[in-house]
Amino acid sequence: IPQQWQAAKEVIKKIEHAGFEAFIVGGAVRDYYLKKENNDVDIATSAMPEEIQTIFSQTIDVGIAHGTVIVLDCGEPIEVTTYRTESTYSDHRRPDTVEFVRNLQEDLKRRDFTMNAMALSQSGEYIDYYNGRQHIDSKVICAVGEPDQRFEEDALRMLRAVRFAAQLHFSIEENTFEAIRKKAASIEYVAIERIQVELSKIFISAHASFGIDYMEKTTLGDYLHGNFTASNWTHYYSEDRQVGWAYFCLVNGSDLSLLTKYRCSNKDKLFVKTVLAAYESLRNGMSLVDLLSYDTIVLKTSFQFTIWQNCKLELSYEELVARKNGLPIQHVNELAITGKDLLDWSSKKRGSWIKQTLNAAVEAVLNEEVQNDKQQLKEWFYAFHDEG
Ligand code: ATP
Ligand code: MG
Repeated sequence: IPQQWQAAKEVIKKIEHAGFEAFIVGGAVRDYYLKKENNDVDIATSAMPEEIQTIFSQTIDVGIAHGTVIVLDCGEPIEVTTYRTESTYSDHRRPDTVEFVRNLQEDLKRRDFTMNAMALSQSGEYIDYYNGRQHIDSKVICAVGEPDQRFEEDALRMLRAVRFAAQLHFSIEENTFEAIRKKAASIEYVAIERIQVELSKIFISAHASFGIDYMEKTTLGDYLHGNFTASNWTHYYSEDRQVGWAYFCLVNGSDLSLLTKYRCSNKDKLFVKTVLAAYESLRNGMSLVDLLSYDTIVLKTSFQFTIWQNCKLELSYEELVARKNGLPIQHVNELAITGKDLLDWSSKKRGSWIKQTLNAAVEAVLNEEVQNDKQQLKEWFYAFHDEG
């Protein structure tokens, strides 16, 4: 098992030494089999949380009720969770009770997909009761057990299936797919924050448009805010979740209210608003003032949007950047005059005219009607603005 799992291996050995079982489980095992990097290692054990706390001297109790203890003894924090089953999900999203068990197979059985229900011993041996490796080899996402029941228990799993499809370019196994279609409406039970997290992961997936296609085919998208129309996403690709949310808003008629509905942060909202404004400006032959005001990321993102939307512009991105770099000033604060200069030159009192005049000065400089020089700007000011 990989070098970076050294700490995990040490934890397992100590638990075994104390007479209990312990295995690496979940996403780390899946990614190890896929030869993908994953440093987020989870350990499952037959030992009870209190027993783990006796075996190790430095532990953090993060959720004893759910069986999770973080062990700090081995150099880096390692999450250790007692084998458990989850019974009855009356709200379609959280088990009513968590029951600790001493048997690994019981623990693996409660997991969502076969590829996520494998365990790995510290010596590198797989425990794979549900054919996870075989399903990975044939690139299918397959529910553990009866798909209907598993989605009935926790509706989020349906969206996780789509997310894994987008990340791995795996198809969703037929019965699992049919169960999602059947249960799609129950996605409405899931907390919006958790949906936001999964959608964000889809947006930054290697195969995002493939995932959106599943949102459409499973009809999951029909029960969520906004439209998920795969044809809008065919050219899309991004590793930046904010770009993803901006594009999602764009293909929904630049609907910024989606960000509020999905509880995105104010920072996200500001970015999306700016990018969508830049996109509009770009389509209308962006003015020099606009060109000056947008930073490189915003310009680049809005330009990408025109490509993903098959919308032709006269100039290439390189030409746009060259035009920006060729501007007489690169930022409004490079203007050679300030509001104070205007007050000195005029007998007028403070007021909104100052900001307006400074904006006009920036525009005049950008249009090369006047040079960015204090003396010349003073003459420009006297020529165009009566001082009375
Ligand atoms: P990621 O790479 O995104 O972390 P992951 O598979 O590790 O993917 P986590 O949310 O970290 O996903 O969960 C760890 C493991 O817990 C999963 O691999 C799976 O075995 C189990 N699990 C997580 N969420 C669920 C769920 N909603 N229902 C059943 N099992 C789940
Ligand atoms: Mg994980």
